[in-house]
Amino acid sequence: MNTDRLLAAARDAVRHCRCPYSGFRVTAVLESEDGRLFPGVNIENASFGLTLCAERAAAARAISSGATGFVRMLVYSPDGTPMPCGACRQFLAEFCREDFQVLVAGRDDPPRAYRLGELLPHAFTLAPERTPPRAPEIH
Ligand SMILES: [Zn+2]
Repeated sequence: MNTDRLLAAARDAVRHCRCPYSGFRVTAVLESEDGRLFPGVNIENASFGLTLCAERAAAARAISSGATGFVRMLVYSPDGTPMPCGACRQFLAEFCREDFQVLVAGRDDPPRAYRLGELLPHAFTLAPERTPPRAPEIH
C-alpha cells in the first residue's frame, strides 16, 4: 500500500504544530475507508495534562467530519521517530479494528507499519463482542 499521499499530508501539516514547550513536532494523518485524509497536529498547553496529541487531533477531526471507518494512520515527526502514546492507542481502539495499520515515520526514517492490536493488545472496551478471550487462570 502506497504511503506517499499520507506522508505528503503529514509533512505539510508540520507547519501547524503547536509545541512551544517541547519543540517536538508531531503530525498524524488518518485515512478513512472512503479515501479521505484527516491531518492532525500536536497541540501543547501550559497546563501540560491538557496537551492534545496529533493522533487524537486527527481522529477528532475525522469523526467531527462524519467519517466512520478507518484503514490506517501515519504518525510523523521531523524531530524524531514518534510512537503513539498509550492514551492515543486506547483512543484509536474505540474506532479502529485490531488490524488497523499504524505507520510511524521520521524525517530520515521511512514508514514502519504496526497493527493497532499489536501496539495495544487487549484494549479496554465496554463492547462485549470486542472483549478479548480470558487469559489462563493463575494457580
Ligand atoms: Zn498520544
